[in-house]
Amino acid sequence: IFITIEGPDGAGKTTQRELLKEYLEKKGYDVLITRDPGGNPISEAIREVILNKEFTEMGYMTELLLYASARAQLVKENIKPALEAGQAVIADRFVDSSAVYQGIGRGLGVDTVYKINEFALQGIMPDMTFLMDLNAQEGIARKKNQAELDRMENEKIEFHQKVVDGYRMLADMHPERIVKIDATLPINEIHGIITKYVEKKLNL
Ligand code: C5P
Ligand code: MG
Repeated sequence: IFITIEGPDGAGKTTQRELLKEYLEKKGYDVLITRDPGGNPISEAIREVILNKEFTEMGYMTELLLYASARAQLVKENIKPALEAGQAVIADRFVDSSAVYQGIGRGLGVDTVYKINEFALQGIMPDMTFLMDLNAQEGIARKKNQAELDRMENEKIEFHQKVVDGYRMLADMHPERIVKIDATLPINEIHGIITKYVEKKLNL
């Protein structure tokens, strides 16, 4: 099974990924956790290029293609082999992040983003996606607490609102795959909601 965790910055994706990994391991699954962009040396190197604050002239299309490149390598090197070996894979972000950040946030269009990514995905799509839903102000406030604010300071709150709205739209478009969860709930409550859905999906 391939599970992705999506949502704006500061929504608690990584925390839930770790909790879900522990849970699935207790159930006897061999679990691969990863992140997008990243997850292997090549994709992590591409991530550094994308997030390099000195590259102020990077075009949105360049950014979109770099995310897709990082993802193509992640699928080829990590996700596909793991799924073929029967592992459960949990990713912190995946193609839906591009649909929302590049497609909606940067205005390149959701359809364009999925079309370009189709090539990178090599037939791999998440079986389940948990959307950690958090309004823009809340997300930025949390990021401040994590002292990861530097990159976000240049980005406007409107961008983050677009991201939040974009995620909600995506969840409405794909209710069979995407489960939207209120990210302001206590960590264990969110974990409980996630495991309930996973149990049902896996017949645990
Ligand atoms: O969640 P993570 O720390 O991996 O994201 C790194 C940064 O890249 C965040 O600021 C996020 O908003 C941004 N990002 C993006 N487009 C994506 C994935 C992440 O702009 N497709
Ligand atoms: Mg995170």
